[in-house]
Amino acid sequence: SDSHFPIPISPSEVDYAQHFPHFFPPEMCDQDKCDAPIPKVRFADIGCGFGGLLVSLSTLFPDALMIGMELRDKVSEYVKERILALRASNPGQYENISVVRTNSMKYIPNYFEKGQLSKMFFLFPDPHFKEKNHRRRVISIQLLDEYAYALEVGGIIYTITDVEELGDWMRTCLENHPLFEAIPEEELEADPVVELLTSATEEGQKVARNGGQTFKAIFRRIAFKE
Ligand code: SAM
Repeated sequence: SDSHFPIPISPSEVDYAQHFPHFFPPEMCDQDKCDAPIPKVRFADIGCGFGGLLVSLSTLFPDALMIGMELRDKVSEYVKERILALRASNPGQYENISVVRTNSMKYIPNYFEKGQLSKMFFLFPDPHFKEKNHRRRVISIQLLDEYAYALEVGGIIYTITDVEELGDWMRTCLENHPLFEAIPEEELEADPVVELLTSATEEGQKVARNGGQTFKAIFRRIAFKE
């Protein structure tokens, strides 16, 4: 239950220096006074599972801080160890990725300030097939309000699933939300991240091995719909 993991009361309470020590050198702040701009997390992988996407994005965007959010304790511990091992065997690399154990459906606003994120990922989320369980889906009109708050205008939300019904659901929620707009296909073809949604995630690799189909909905955070 929630009582087993710490919940920061606000984004400023999150000890990001502990997650990204290379980006927060001790000399940056003198006692409690901090003049240097505080580096901010820019990408969030929600329900990151075993962390494959973070590992691939880390070297593609070495200057962007990214965090995975994962509900399962053992899985988040695995990702933590995986990142520490990568850092140890590749000095200077993988310093920009980290993970927190949390329930993203409850605590996104505790971690991110308004407009802080430039990318959010919801890759192969749990489908929750039954109608009465749809409220447990990580994409809903209500939760999109929170995601729109955390994303900067121009930021991108990436979703993908191998469950067609869930793919339709995620697309419909995004289409109906006033602060998101579909990104045209030709723009997606030029985005190097899109290919990683399947090739870098553990779930995507499984689907590819089984020759399954995937359904993506990738939208931009806009200021308002025309
Ligand atoms: N995104 C990864 C991938 O594509 O390989 C993992 C996909 S896995 C099917 C879904 C993950 O979401 C699981 O690891 C699960 O524990 C996590 N999850 C489910 N609900 C969550 C929540 N409310 N907050 C954070 N993580 C959650």
